[in-house]
Amino acid sequence: MPSHFEKKFSQPSAISSLMEDLNQGVQNDQMLMLGGGNPAQIPAVKALFQRQIEAAAEDQTLLEGLSNYAGPLGKDSFRQHLAELLSSVFDSEIQPQHIALTNGSQSAFFALANLFAGQREDGSLKKILLPMSPEYIGYSDLGVKDDIFTSIKPQINLLDNREFKYQIDFEQLDITEDIGLVVTSCPTNPSGNVLTETELSELDRRCQAANTPLLLDCAYGAPFPNIVFSELKLPFNDNVILCLSLSKLGLPGARCGIIVAAPNIIKTLANLSGVMSLAPGNIGPVIAESMVSSGEIVKVSNELIQPYYHDKACYLAAKLKQAIDDPRFRIHKPEGAIFLWLWFKDLPISSQALYLRLKEKRLVVVAGQHFFPGLQSDWRHQQECVRLSYAQSEEVLDEAVTILAAEIKAIYAEH
Ligand code: PLP
Repeated sequence: MPSHFEKKFSQPSAISSLMEDLNQGVQNDQMLMLGGGNPAQIPAVKALFQRQIEAAAEDQTLLEGLSNYAGPLGKDSFRQHLAELLSSVFDSEIQPQHIALTNGSQSAFFALANLFAGQREDGSLKKILLPMSPEYIGYSDLGVKDDIFTSIKPQINLLDNREFKYQIDFEQLDITEDIGLVVTSCPTNPSGNVLTETELSELDRRCQAANTPLLLDCAYGAPFPNIVFSELKLPFNDNVILCLSLSKLGLPGARCGIIVAAPNIIKTLANLSGVMSLAPGNIGPVIAESMVSSGEIVKVSNELIQPYYHDKACYLAAKLKQAIDDPRFRIHKPEGAIFLWLWFKDLPISSQALYLRLKEKRLVVVAGQHFFPGLQSDWRHQQECVRLSYAQSEEVLDEAVTILAAEIKAIYAEH
């Protein structure tokens, strides 16, 4: 008889299929890869990392980092500098004991999901509430036990300029006793939505009232890489678990996630980290440490990374609106992250079928239906959306738009 663990992980997960697709797309230069979550290759940012690596090689910190294990919470001096930076950003006293480094924030989610949700000692099941669907595909299979997610439909506000914006439906949001953790990505992957200050403070208030931790996944958010085009003010207090990452800054291969939380949670993560990996890797901390201690990481985010993606988002949105004039087509207001989320109302085929048709034509996107973990609903909207990354060059985006526009026109015409 297989264990829960074996049963779960002997099957492919949504995120492992996506990563495989990404890998194939990266390796096959015939494909137009708008599917994965790989950050853009921004020349000025790459040059900066090159200089950081050379300096670390020169002063031996690279070799020192590679020839020593860190402690289970990660490189101490990096955590110390991060604590100083985050204390000033959040105007709060953040100490190194509030910070754990992990091998990517994804691996931290696995630990946190199974810590706060899943089967309890008394046999009851705690769940994770995603206050607004659609949400990040990488959450889907985090539970060793299946069905640990629950979610609710958003309200959809139709905006001018063929855009729309999701909003949390607080009337439907109930943090009941069986909810062990509330999770939201901000900015949101896939939609590029940024929760308003009012939404975030109401969510925070309700989580505190229910004594349920609120995990804010800021892989794209403040203070770095800060790929946010609207106002984002994060709540920060003892009930918040903040997850940051060096990935979308341009270092996904460094696999460096950063968890900021109450010291008791960090201690548990240290115990888990010891068992799972002895210690997280040092390469990300070595490359980024001086940028953190000088505050340059925030400056680079605001002055290089954010404007780069903002220009790309505007470029792709304009091209799409120009090429697809069907009124059933709308784009989620691009407010951050590295994706556009497209909605084809009344799409006669599933989003997976659309994905396959586009892939035949060399264009890789991600089918929207995977981004609704925990939503027990046959809501048609789930089949009507796709996610496009705008991290690629304008030439690639132009070609992608031409293929997508022709295919959408054909699909609407066929039915
Ligand atoms: N959170 C969100 C919303 C993401 O989109 C991603 C990656 O695409 C991650 C977290 C995981 O990032 P990493 O494990 O590279 O830190």
